[in-house]
Amino acid sequence: MTFDDLFLDDELIAAVRDSGFEKPTEVQQLAIPALLAGQDVLACAATGTGKTAAFILPILQRLNDERHKHDQARILILAPTRELAFQIQHVFHQLGKAFKPTIAMLTGGASPWAQVQHASAQCDIIIATPGRLLSLVNDESVDLSAVELVIIDEADRMLDMGQGPDVLMALAAIKSKFQAGLFSATLAGSGVRIFAEELLTDPQEIHI
Ligand code: AMP
Repeated sequence: MTFDDLFLDDELIAAVRDSGFEKPTEVQQLAIPALLAGQDVLACAATGTGKTAAFILPILQRLNDERHKHDQARILILAPTRELAFQIQHVFHQLGKAFKPTIAMLTGGASPWAQVQHASAQCDIIIATPGRLLSLVNDESVDLSAVELVIIDEADRMLDMGQGPDVLMALAAIKSKFQAGLFSATLAGSGVRIFAEELLTDPQEIHI
C-alpha cells in the first residue's frame, strides 16, 4: 500500500513525502481509512509505529474537506503529558503546512488565562492534558460543545498516571455523540479495556 491508496489530498501526500515517509506504516494503513470513514478506533500501537500521523492525517483531511471555518474546536486530542502534547502539535505543523490548522494548547505549565483566550478565539483543534482540560471545563472557560472527534493518545500512560476520571468528566461536557480514537501501547492491565468500553462504540480494533 502507498499513501496514494489512502484517499488523502495531494497537499497531504506532498507533506508526507517531504517528511521522508515513503509508505504508510501498518497502524496508518489501518487507522487512516477507519477514522476517515467516521468509525471509532481502538489501536494498540506503541511510540515508534507512526501512530501520531495515523490520527493527524485523517484529521487534516477532514478539516480540509470542510473548508468553512467554525468558531469552536471540533477536534480534541488528549495526551498524558505536556511534552507529548507539544510533540503532537509539532507533527500537526509538519504535516499540515498547506492547511495551517489553528491549534489551542491547554496543558499544565503555562498560564491558563492565555490558553483560554486562545481557545476561545476561532480554533480548529484543542490539544490538552486531562487535568488542565477538566479545570477549564469546570470553570466554563472552555466550551467543548462543538467537538465531533476525540483522540486519546497513550491511554495506558494516562491511566497509570491516574488521569482516567479527569478524562471521563471532561468528555461528559460534550453533549452530542462524538467519534473517538483511543491509542495505547498495550491493552493489557491498567483498565485500558474498560476505559475504551466507556468511550468507544463498536470500534475497529487494530493490533500492531
Ligand atoms: P510515532 O509512533 O508517531 O511516535 O512516530 C515515530 C516516528 O516515525 C516519527 O519520527 C515519525 O516521523 C516517523 N514516521 C511516521 N510515519 C512514518 C512513515 N509512514 N514512514 C516513515 N517514518 C514515519
